[in-house]
Amino acid sequence: MILDLNRIAVKILLDIRNKTQSTSIVISGALGPLQDAYQDSTGTVSFGQAREYYGSQIHAFAEEGVDMICIMTVINLDEATAAVSLAQREYNLPIHVSFIVETDGRLRGGRTLEDAIREVDRLTESYTTYFGVNCAHPRYIIKAVRDMHTDVRSRIGSIRGNSSLKSHDELDNSLVLDRGDISVWVREFNELLNMLPGLKVVGGCCGTDEEHIDAITSRIDSVS
Ligand SMILES: [Zn+2]
Repeated sequence: MILDLNRIAVKILLDIRNKTQSTSIVISGALGPLQDAYQDSTGTVSFGQAREYYGSQIHAFAEEGVDMICIMTVINLDEATAAVSLAQREYNLPIHVSFIVETDGRLRGGRTLEDAIREVDRLTESYTTYFGVNCAHPRYIIKAVRDMHTDVRSRIGSIRGNSSLKSHDELDNSLVLDRGDISVWVREFNELLNMLPGLKVVGGCCGTDEEHIDAITSRIDSVS
């Protein structure tokens, strides 16, 4: 099922790219956590299990012709390193690793973002093309990068912010989607743009919509 969806998704994007030759489009095959994205599967999902699950997904992406792989919403480093090692050793594809942080700026379980990036790089010969953070409000990503050593900070190439200031536990139990305050979201996203010299991909995650994206697009246009 998931493999069919992956193949169809890439075919749709290839078709769009063929019809949009005036704009360069990079097609990235996305992997996600193997359990609840807001829970830590460390110790539950092993490196070997992750390699098996992601192996078939990356194989399908590679056969369909993606340009790169990404793994989003990472807490469990075994999932990240399994995906990176597959991209490197089996398919020679670039890969982007995006973590999720909590309201204290740390990964669930207490690991700092800096430590997570260093550890994935250490275990995979720094193969990851760039790192990122998704599904956290820009305010909490600022906490994660503020005191980070500059060599690690420069490894961050992607931010896709959640719209809400609520914790993931609160969001998990919420019956409504929280769009948050867009003016706060954009202001704090702008702060991040100034803190991250290696940033190349920006966007929204849960709770965001075209209004959020339009607001940061205006900002990017003004500095590009
Ligand atoms: Zn999200």
